[in-house]
Amino acid sequence: MKNCTFHIFFVSVAWLLVSCAAQTTEESPAKTILLKDFAPKVVNNIPVTHVERAKFDIIDMHSHDYVENAEQIAAWCQTMDEVGVLNTAIMHCSWIGRPFEEVVELYAPYRDHFRFWCCFDYTDMSPEGIAKACDLLARYHNELGAVGVGELGDKGEGDTYARPTDGKDIHIDDPRIKPLIEKCAELKMPISIHIAEPYWMYLPMDETNDGLVNAVNWHVDTTNCYGYDKLMTTFENAVRENPQTIFIACHYLNMNHDLPRLGALLDKYPNLYIDISARVAESAHTPRATREFLIKYQDRVLFGTDNGMDAEMYQMIFRVLETNDEHFYMPESEYHWSLSGFNLPDEVLKKIYHDNAERILTEYR
Ligand SMILES: [Zn+2]
Repeated sequence: MKNCTFHIFFVSVAWLLVSCAAQTTEESPAKTILLKDFAPKVVNNIPVTHVERAKFDIIDMHSHDYVENAEQIAAWCQTMDEVGVLNTAIMHCSWIGRPFEEVVELYAPYRDHFRFWCCFDYTDMSPEGIAKACDLLARYHNELGAVGVGELGDKGEGDTYARPTDGKDIHIDDPRIKPLIEKCAELKMPISIHIAEPYWMYLPMDETNDGLVNAVNWHVDTTNCYGYDKLMTTFENAVRENPQTIFIACHYLNMNHDLPRLGALLDKYPNLYIDISARVAESAHTPRATREFLIKYQDRVLFGTDNGMDAEMYQMIFRVLETNDEHFYMPESEYHWSLSGFNLPDEVLKKIYHDNAERILTEYR
């Protein structure tokens, strides 16, 4: 794919390391280690907390159809039971999975553990075609139990996560899809949407890039598509123009670097929520600012994972949200920022883990 591609960067960390004549000889690996191979081990004698099970029951508002068969769904349910996840959103859009009807059928025996989110159908963008897509949305909702729409995804080229037809060049404020967004309000289906990527991925990949240490695979080329701010404008337009529709911006709206800006949007638009999925590193390397933000916006934040089905994946998120641990790394991650926990108060944890999602999925109905 030519546009919006992620380039591979191999950058030496040698310059990061303190020079020491006695140890850093010409042959020293410190001079040639690549950032992608950097795997530091914490030496500090500080608390290490293993959170086996979440402190409160969880509704996971962001996950996908990761399984290959029914046995894997059963194993996933067992893991969910063990770590304290009551219910998981299976977001049909994005690149993983099978047709929506098949997803619902496959998971049917485990219905109590999952909720289904469907896509917009962009197959025919004429007014008649969109009217049909609205009818399909209503059918998915009324007959197959779709609770919401998502994960829509616009990284610059339009809603390319959609299926069966991707929404290339269709951004969320496109007037052609307004009937679909209004239909969501009518059906009381929230829209979960991934907009842009973390901000540092848009900056030059040079020695000044704060995310460079994570940049083995990530850089967004916006030469031929919308950039960060233009995408944020499309999103804000949609949220403002559709006040009856609930929007859930995935991954902190990819705005972890500017929480005051994200807070201002939440202040302005009561129909806007965020999920915290797949942004452990982007949030836990600034634990005090993020903690303050999560406490302030405790009624507008939803728990999400977006990262597979392993118990350890859930437990890493619990460690970040629940503990006061410092300076730890996410295992097997391309991220190299060290993390610290938020030690969130119980009442905030309970809202983020469960109550806010429950309110959207039931009271909103
Ligand atoms: Zn996702």
